Amino acid sequence: MSESTHRKKNPSGGCGSEENLSPVENGKKAFSNKKELVLASEEELVSFVKSAHEPSYRAKQIYEWVALKRVCDPDKMTNLSVSLREKLKEAFACCTVKVAETRSAQDGSCKLLLTLADGESVECAIIVARDGRNTFCLSTQVGCPVRCSFCASGEHGLVRNLSAGEIIGEYLACCSIIGKSPDNVVIMGIGEPLLNYDNLVCALEKICDPEGMKLSARRVTISTSGWTPGIRSLAKLGRQWNLAVSLHAPDDKTRASLIPGKFRRDIRDILEACKMHREATGRLLTFEYVLLKDVNDSKEFASRLVKVAKEADAKVNLIPYNEANGGFSRPDREKVNAFAAVLERAGIPVTVRVEKGFEADAACGQLRSSAEKRRKK
Ligand code: SF4
Repeated sequence: MSESTHRKKNPSGGCGSEENLSPVENGKKAFSNKKELVLASEEELVSFVKSAHEPSYRAKQIYEWVALKRVCDPDKMTNLSVSLREKLKEAFACCTVKVAETRSAQDGSCKLLLTLADGESVECAIIVARDGRNTFCLSTQVGCPVRCSFCASGEHGLVRNLSAGEIIGEYLACCSIIGKSPDNVVIMGIGEPLLNYDNLVCALEKICDPEGMKLSARRVTISTSGWTPGIRSLAKLGRQWNLAVSLHAPDDKTRASLIPGKFRRDIRDILEACKMHREATGRLLTFEYVLLKDVNDSKEFASRLVKVAKEADAKVNLIPYNEANGGFSRPDREKVNAFAAVLERAGIPVTVRVEKGFEADAACGQLRSSAEKRRKK
């Protein structure tokens, strides 16, 4: 199914929509009231250069810096006059995301701590595969309202949603580190992306704009803890983004012990929403499954997971727990392999996530937690 056959109006209205499909309050607002430069359309830039008494071709130059050269800092837009760069900084919020810290692994993968204009921080990562392909892992919220019991990112709940411009800012920060666009993007960092639906969709529409940043929609995967209203909205939108659902258990009782809050949905509801997404988009479904020692790592759990994965026609990505939070621990390698073997024998496509070097001392959320502690001292 081609993207073009599905390109229809975003029912949320896309960027700047008055209707808000994000079901959590923004809490704290993002810092600036100015329009973010990375979200400006060519038309808005035309009206900006007109009001700045500059020739109209300047609008195209600015648009190309952001969309094609992936540069959002006016000071780096070398074919603009210094005075126009200053006017641009006055009119728009530019560079709202800054790299504060990086942790690198030997293979070139790295984790970034990013600071936002209001002093909050988030993490994102660049994962380099054995074949050299780059995947950006992006966050969508500061903190997380879902509060999974094993996750440091959700420990203190939600601080605020990232704006669409801040999500794009993460993407551009990663692009500037590798000097090009990525091969893939996974929305799997801090936060539940579908609880920040409008800003997520707005950011991805920009990143995947065929006239702009040009990343193929099929190279994007949205990973959700199973927020079914958001999955259904994505299905109605019909974009070619892939879907990953963090199942973590094949039954509702065990899931409830791992995802205790009000944002958990029943597995039956998840299966129905995923079916709707598959029928609308034709895209693949992955179940993410964090393996926790003596909690959900037995062969019996694997057999029950087979049934759920078969019904959903999903592949399974096993994530051996990276110890960080909540008193859980990681199963040993034999146990992980035995779990995977049950799925493989049943014909379920299965991968086991390989830990990157930086994760040993910086699991998801830990860079941000350390930065927060330093900030509050
Ligand atoms: S695992 Fe994901 S959904 Fe759960 S608390 Fe952490 S960031 Fe939120």
